[in-house]
Amino acid sequence: MQDKTSQARSSNLIRGETGEWEVIIGLEVHAQVASRSKLFSGSSTAFGAEPNSHVSLVDAAMPGMLPVINAECVAQAIRTGLGLRAEINLRSVFDRKNYFYPDLPQGYQISQYKQPIVGEGEVEIDADGETMRVGIERLHLEQDAGKSIHDQHPEFSYVDLNRSGIALMEIVSKPDMRSAKQAQAYVTKLRTILRYLGTCDGDMEKGNLRADVNVSVRKPGDQLGTRCEIKNVNSIRFIGQAVDVEARRQIEIIEDGGTIDQETRLFDPQKGETRSMRSKEEAHDYRYFPDPDLLPLEFKADYVAELKKHLPELPDEKRARFIADYGLSPYDASVLVAERENADYFEAVVAMLKDGLRDGKLAANWVNNELFGRLNKEGLDIARSPVSARQLGGLVDLISSDVISGKIAKDLFEILWTEGGDPAGIVDKRGMKQVTDTGAIEKAVDEIIAANPDKVEQAKAKPSMLGWFVGQVMKTTGGKANPAVVNEMLKRKLGV
Ligand code: MN
Repeated sequence: MQDKTSQARSSNLIRGETGEWEVIIGLEVHAQVASRSKLFSGSSTAFGAEPNSHVSLVDAAMPGMLPVINAECVAQAIRTGLGLRAEINLRSVFDRKNYFYPDLPQGYQISQYKQPIVGEGEVEIDADGETMRVGIERLHLEQDAGKSIHDQHPEFSYVDLNRSGIALMEIVSKPDMRSAKQAQAYVTKLRTILRYLGTCDGDMEKGNLRADVNVSVRKPGDQLGTRCEIKNVNSIRFIGQAVDVEARRQIEIIEDGGTIDQETRLFDPQKGETRSMRSKEEAHDYRYFPDPDLLPLEFKADYVAELKKHLPELPDEKRARFIADYGLSPYDASVLVAERENADYFEAVVAMLKDGLRDGKLAANWVNNELFGRLNKEGLDIARSPVSARQLGGLVDLISSDVISGKIAKDLFEILWTEGGDPAGIVDKRGMKQVTDTGAIEKAVDEIIAANPDKVEQAKAKPSMLGWFVGQVMKTTGGKANPAVVNEMLKRKLGV
């Protein structure tokens, strides 16, 4: 795994004054576990509630309260580990990570340190024109803290503990990424996998998925440089920008003869810069020790096997199947599987076809180009598509059985989008059927030939003129003539 990525490709290098620099990126992603209640209490995890309305005595860290592990959160972490092709540890330990902050009433965060629930795994990504693997170092379960609110009053800060105790999965990658694009592709793919698994909704706007971005630079072949960690970056776009501006900052410092201090920084998207928050703490600053209130977390291999049996088909498998079964291009297949809902829609279209295996590729073209193009333009997602999978399947069937031409199909799509209805019924009623009757086509062909003797002469010398004749015939038949028949007949009559 390391071999594949440790050699930076020249296209990823950044040019400085003293030569080219390689950027090394590792990510720690905090993903909120999809669960109705918190990691160690029964409080609700619902978003957007009245401040401090979902806070139990455990979440508020009242003396004598004891944490009780939420089995569903454990199952979600295991499912995620399986989705990351990772090793599942049958025994893991919860530790206390000690620090002080007003939104942390316990005075420590319950996390996992030396023995996490999930070990090494990998994520496959497509970036910079190639497929590569990003190693996963570990995944551990931990509690989220509350939220401090500083901007509502000039003299006070407020604390909302609704988030306190919500389960997070911290997913730590290996420092395998070499460009902003790769880092973005990794988080995008990770998010897709989590959403397929149903273990995190991936809603970055709500902060349910956020990334700490570790960046360092070195001359290719040199030892790793000192890294800085950019905290809590909450959009894919910002992750790319943060990597680029931080790498530039470090290169400038080193080229000016300075050194990089290991520190925690903040990305300011408005100013397009990173700023120092604090010098980086080391693990020993947190005085980690096993939480005496919690037993080690142990389960049997059977339990993991049972969870594995019920995992959904994941994006990589689905993509491979689409390519193998329907002959889709890797790109088309990737577009379809990026969101589970889109892949489901495509499969529902295929299920409507008389010969799905044969016409899957045509269906993919219609979904990816016409449908997604239109949805994007109107700012709609697939769930609110005016054209159902059933209708689109009907339309594709009409094309593949030569009832309508591709051109007429676009008109039909427009009618389905604006008025709805049954595709075959509309084609019948509005006389949109393709003309395959050779007599009618021949009449049109003969008329065009008779009216354009000069063009006929030109076509004999220049066979590419054929296209012009096809266009004319299609025009006079209102786009309904079968193009294959028209072509054939014109070739014969013009002798080209
Ligand atoms: Mn963490």
